[in-house]
Amino acid sequence: MTEKIAKRIEEIAIELTNELSVVETPGELDSVNKIFEIFSKMPYYTENPEDLFFVETGDKLGRKSVVAVLRGKKSSSKKTVVMIGHTDTVGISDYGNLQEYANRPYELMEKLKEVTLSEEVTRDLNSGEYLFGRGLFDMKTGDAIIMALMEEIASDIENFEGNLIFAGVCDEEGNSGGMLSVVPKLVEMQEKEGLEYLALLDTDYMTSEFEGDENKYVYIGTVGKLMPSFYVVGKETHVGESFKGIDPNQIASHITSRINLNPEFCDVAEGEVSLPPITLHQRDLKTEYSVQIAKSATLFFNYATHCSTPDEVLVKMKNAANEAFQEAIDTLNNRYSTFCEMAGRKQELLPWKARTMTYEELLAAVEKENASVKDIMDEYNGELMKDEDLDPRTFSLRMVEKLHSLWSDREPVVVVYFSPPYYPHIYVEGTAEKEKNLIDAVAEAVDSTKTDYRLVYKKFFPYISDLSYAAAPKDPAIIAALKDNMPGFGSKYDLPLEDMQKLDLPVLDIGSFGKDAHKFTERIEKRYSFNVAPELVYKTVMNLLKK
Ligand SMILES: [Zn+2]
Repeated sequence: MTEKIAKRIEEIAIELTNELSVVETPGELDSVNKIFEIFSKMPYYTENPEDLFFVETGDKLGRKSVVAVLRGKKSSSKKTVVMIGHTDTVGISDYGNLQEYANRPYELMEKLKEVTLSEEVTRDLNSGEYLFGRGLFDMKTGDAIIMALMEEIASDIENFEGNLIFAGVCDEEGNSGGMLSVVPKLVEMQEKEGLEYLALLDTDYMTSEFEGDENKYVYIGTVGKLMPSFYVVGKETHVGESFKGIDPNQIASHITSRINLNPEFCDVAEGEVSLPPITLHQRDLKTEYSVQIAKSATLFFNYATHCSTPDEVLVKMKNAANEAFQEAIDTLNNRYSTFCEMAGRKQELLPWKARTMTYEELLAAVEKENASVKDIMDEYNGELMKDEDLDPRTFSLRMVEKLHSLWSDREPVVVVYFSPPYYPHIYVEGTAEKEKNLIDAVAEAVDSTKTDYRLVYKKFFPYISDLSYAAAPKDPAIIAALKDNMPGFGSKYDLPLEDMQKLDLPVLDIGSFGKDAHKFTERIEKRYSFNVAPELVYKTVMNLLKK
């Protein structure tokens, strides 16, 4: 890339960083407006103002995303590369007494010199090779790369063949309100204008994957995420008759032991291994102190996917929970037997039976007894919706509790369901033509870029991101498994699944390189980020449009 573009990227990255845009604050609007302002100064947009517009999220904060379309004048080609970058950042409390400098990189770096930092951070700070600042790495430099390249292309639009769309999306660090409102807009443009989308490219950050990792990655495809959740009903008892009950906390603990960080649940695709599930929440649902054990408990996991779909994950989790339930019963039987021996009592097998059902199966069981259960649940859903502040995870749990309470069966059971959110993985196998073109475009870009950095392209962007919303599983059975087992789907939590299915794009991420995203030592390495990453982005886009 030319030095001129590298300089321009730095300039824009700093300008955007100066606009503090912490997620879920009014500041989010400032960075979006700044992007709009920078584009609107380009002659292309003074001549074509309709190609620069906002997409409202419709939320309470009035947040919006900004979309810039660039239409090449060399031909009437409908080929289009869609690019996204998020405009929000995480909070700044981690900067402590340096908060006021978090968004002023050059001043921040002077101030950081007065702070005790790790050896590596100190080295980077003094090297002159890094720039520090909140959002600079995640991901305003990425936004700047796209913007500077579009500015360059726009300056010679007569000789550009094809089209580019950039969406600067808000709320990525929160609930993806930006991307989820942009997806239907992209589909609308595709249908109305006959644009032929080739791929969705993100420029979110890229970092070392392990200690001493010197590779610089380009990722094709993205990881997905589900949140398998469990509602555990035990049998309450007084502590004085402890073996007469079964503690849902004990069952929940066995479920955690069975699933947490267990590589058995890793997805492997082309040698790329997803991280195993990790527990995010586990607690019983007793609200007061008493000498009665808890009646129910709940837990959920973050479950990363490369190839498993919601229906498959549901089955795996149901089986795992049932095995864990049986283990809990076996453990209790062993302990009871030892206790009886010690106390000289007659031994009997405890009466518990392991059983696990999905939310959907529970609904069917209750419906057999009560034909109007769906109406009751709809009404309850409406009631819960009145409390806007209710967390979506709690919403789902309340729905499960309510449904279970309508059942005449009071025996111990584990109900498996999904809590929001859901991020589909996108596996770019190379079987479809679009996928193959993307893989080739990246390969050519990487192979033709001369640099002393070790460039590597691989599958699956490893961080949860808006890229996931570029597609959704098309099999109705998969979608049904998700919707029918995520209580509150379609009301409290929603995804534009049909539009995601229509978009159906292979995705990739070519990010700036840096370190410590979401930490106050967040920083980018300038040479790679301003020179090499933009070259890779530019070449990939051009290769795609040529195919
Ligand atoms: Zn990011």
